[in-house]
Amino acid sequence: MDLDSFRAEAHRIVERMADYLEGIEDFPVRSRLSPGAVAAQLPKAAPEAGEPMEAVLADVERIVLPGLTHWQHPRFFAYFPANSSPPAILAEMLTAAFAAQCMLWQTSPAATELETVVLDWLRQLVGLPAGFHGVIQDTASSATLCAVLMARERATGWRSDAEGLSGLPPLRIYASAEAHSSVEKAVRIAGLGRAGLRLVPVDAAWRLRPDALAAMIAADRAAGAVPAGVVATFGTTGLGALDPLAEIAAVCRREELLLHVDAAWAGSALLLPEVRELAHGLGEADSVVINPHKWLLTNFDCTAHWVRDPAALVRTLSVLPPYLRSAETGRVIDYRDWGVPLGRRFRALKLWFVLRSYGAAALRAKLRADIAMAADAAARLAALPGIEVVTRSLALVVFRHVPQPLAGDAAALDAHNRALVERINADGRIYLTPGVCDGGAVIRLATGGTWTRPRHIAEAVAVIAELAGAPA
Ligand SMILES: *Cc1c(COP(=O)(O)O)cnc(C)c1O
Repeated sequence: MDLDSFRAEAHRIVERMADYLEGIEDFPVRSRLSPGAVAAQLPKAAPEAGEPMEAVLADVERIVLPGLTHWQHPRFFAYFPANSSPPAILAEMLTAAFAAQCMLWQTSPAATELETVVLDWLRQLVGLPAGFHGVIQDTASSATLCAVLMARERATGWRSDAEGLSGLPPLRIYASAEAHSSVEKAVRIAGLGRAGLRLVPVDAAWRLRPDALAAMIAADRAAGAVPAGVVATFGTTGLGALDPLAEIAAVCRREELLLHVDAAWAGSALLLPEVRELAHGLGEADSVVINPHKWLLTNFDCTAHWVRDPAALVRTLSVLPPYLRSAETGRVIDYRDWGVPLGRRFRALKLWFVLRSYGAAALRAKLRADIAMAADAAARLAALPGIEVVTRSLALVVFRHVPQPLAGDAAALDAHNRALVERINADGRIYLTPGVCDGGAVIRLATGGTWTRPRHIAEAVAVIAELAGAPA
């Protein structure tokens, strides 16, 4: 494709992008296709002769769009949101055109220095103290893996780095029983084994119990294991629990354990002073992760990761072959040493566009509106006959339907709620996620979508009432 054609096609595609977002409410939120339906429409091999862009775009409409679950739909309330926004999309377009590979400072000084500066802006906005150094990782899972690897190396004095883990006493990482699956994945990838992850019991609000953490650490030491680190969660995925960071940090300090705080979802809300009140002790962590790609209007992927001791992270991850040496090595930040992949996209650009285009005040207003919409959803749901709101944390509402004839029959209630959420999602007007609370089936409704407005909350509650047979 020559540049004249590119120019013409690009203008047309921008029109299609705006049309898509403008008309997104006409789609069912969750794709209605069955497994294999997309693949069955595609040729088995790539074309030998090039095709016109118009033919490719026609197939986007015909084959791809029906196979999409529309994450930017204003009635998407499943999982957590994966925010995008017009400024972030524009930045992604530029990033694609620059197509810079930002592994070293030298391979694009602007990418490295913008990343450092923009993450320092965000550090200030979320109230992390000076002394934290930022890097953009692809996902929170990667950030947590880096933190667990750092904990492993610190706990063994970098002996595991030199010799491997065999011959060393077993290492232990602690997280609450409500922690995200990425913690277990990180512990297993780090070579600590499933036994290396110790799940700490939670209190009545599903928060990690610091007393139980201290007891487990003592028992593990007595048994000859080496406690290495704790992953605390600020905003668990299932129920939105906010672990008591100050008490956990005190245990970590006393026991000399690395503290990583997984604030992947709720961390964006730390822009709000009233939410920072709930995160006392955050500044005492060694490592903190927040996903602007969840709830801060920045297209996936963009994970903000701050560490207090970048030298420890670099010592854990750096490998320096001759072809990656540059005249500046050691004098500049080479972000390749701060994460697992060598190659890196220019991800700072979109976060910069978002922070500049909206400004902190508008981002705070968005977050407050999202939280208010969740509070509204919780109030409306609680007013429906048979609906129990189990918990509401920031922009997450967790509920279940307890029809009178089933009350007291746990197995029947579980089956009923699992069937209800599937019925709701198959209907297509809204999209929710099933969950589990204290062993029972529940339903999660997360607000925070870029285009979700109060009327969509009223519509969602009406759909739930209708399909649960619980008319308001
Ligand atoms: C979503 C989520 C993650 C995983 O985020 P990725 O960026 O997809 O790896 C981790 N922890 C929590 C608490 C989450 O909600």
